[in-house]
Amino acid sequence: MPVPLLDIQRQHGPLATEFNQAFNRILESGAFVLGKEVQDFEKSVADYIGVKHAIGISSGTDALLVSLMALDIGPGDEVLCPAFTFFGTAGSIARVGATPVWVDVDRDSFNIDLNDAAAKVSPATKAMIPVHLFGQACDMTALAAFAGKHGLAVIEDAAQAIGAEFEKRQVGGFTELGAFSFYPTKNLGGLGDGGLVTTNDDALAEKVIQLRNHGMHPKYVHNLIGGNFRLDALQAAFLNIKLSRLESWHSARAEHACFYFGALSQAKAFELPTALPGRRHVWNQFTLKVRDGRRDELRAFLAKKGIGSEIYYPIALDQQRCFEGVGRGGETITVSHELADSVLSIPVFPEMTGAERDEVVSVLLDF
Ligand SMILES: *Cc1c(COP(=O)(O)O)cnc(C)c1O
Repeated sequence: MPVPLLDIQRQHGPLATEFNQAFNRILESGAFVLGKEVQDFEKSVADYIGVKHAIGISSGTDALLVSLMALDIGPGDEVLCPAFTFFGTAGSIARVGATPVWVDVDRDSFNIDLNDAAAKVSPATKAMIPVHLFGQACDMTALAAFAGKHGLAVIEDAAQAIGAEFEKRQVGGFTELGAFSFYPTKNLGGLGDGGLVTTNDDALAEKVIQLRNHGMHPKYVHNLIGGNFRLDALQAAFLNIKLSRLESWHSARAEHACFYFGALSQAKAFELPTALPGRRHVWNQFTLKVRDGRRDELRAFLAKKGIGSEIYYPIALDQQRCFEGVGRGGETITVSHELADSVLSIPVFPEMTGAERDEVVSVLLDF
């Protein structure tokens, strides 16, 4: 039986009537960008996350970019960035003209290694972007202590982690700014691109709101150089419908993960991911570390049996060609390189059936 890595159609099928109602409502309203639909979504998602301000943005990447702009990070500034994450985390740093400083990640949590960060921080370092990778929160207590000690602003990259918690508090509200993505493969995915900036700081919120719309305030008066980082009414309405189901999807993902931990605990060919205590993991990805250099072999084996898998991420950022001569700190990166060569993510989407889950396990145990 084939099992896809993700089947978004199963999630959307039961919501089609509500999506169509929203579409018709917005079609009739003629208001397609920002406006009431976006405000309604911003209010519900701020309540959900537990932050004062949630600002709808065009994408997760733009949420990171506008956050850096709001902090006035630019040429001459350094920003600490994990070497093992999605490209957008680092791309946004380079796009404001700042220097990404590559920091290795912890092998168990896949998240930023603060020991390595301490070795690389310099007087030019102004900020850091820790990533709650695959849906598991970073250690926010240690992070706050580190950032406080070095006087760094922190942008949480929570693109994969909406709903994830550290000590019962959701990510996105711990630091100056949080950035979320609603790309369709994220735990809360739109029917297109979308993102969000969160903050508890009124002044930063106001600045992000202005930067989102060309730094304009009031109409046709520009005090800042912003961009077009606006969210569409349609996406906001679709996301608001999906937000009301998000907790049930998180539960389903957690149940799949729990099943994998039980059923695969004796497997020899790979290591299971580590769910750390004091955190709520939301399992955007369930990521194996394949032993003995056999990752590509396992991936091919799964593909032959119809099981979907993906490599998040096959190249560490310090080794991307576009960053040649751009960042610093790559010389001492080791764990990120090892992970790029050994990780493999397997199906953990909420709508996966029990039979499909059994199939994934049985194929993995056959390897
Ligand atoms: C998806 C993602 C982003 C970018 O979000 P987009 O909405 O695709 O622009 C940034 N960082 C991480 C860690 C992501 O997973």
